[in-house]
Amino acid sequence: MHIIYHLIINFIIGIVLLYFFPNKFTWIAVMIIVLSGVLIDLDHVVYYTINGGDSHLDFVNNNPHFYFFHTIEFIILIIVLSFFSRNVFFIMIGSLSHLLADIMRYIVENNYAWLKYWSVIYYFLIK
Ligand SMILES: [Zn+2]
Repeated sequence: MHIIYHLIINFIIGIVLLYFFPNKFTWIAVMIIVLSGVLIDLDHVVYYTINGGDSHLDFVNNNPHFYFFHTIEFIILIIVLSFFSRNVFFIMIGSLSHLLADIMRYIVENNYAWLKYWSVIYYFLIK
């Protein structure tokens, strides 16, 4: 999904959380939610730095590959760490909303090729 959609979706989620939980969320929290929801896609850049190719084309064509920050193991790690840090909790919200948006787009497009890339363990077992 294009970065601008993640930016908009995460900003809306941050604003809604700020509105309903003003004593739990601040503008800094909204910024962390938005930034984490956008910067999680840096793993695309890492993938193409290692494997070659054009990361911009990947965004346009929506071709799934193995992106570490888009794996269930990374999400489990960030959920566990969120119990110990409020800022990691905000990063978790941003990351989860990013991944849910990605999943919803793939489902709408009837594209299930991403399923084999959603686990580090599964990916390296079938590779
Ligand atoms: Zn993504």
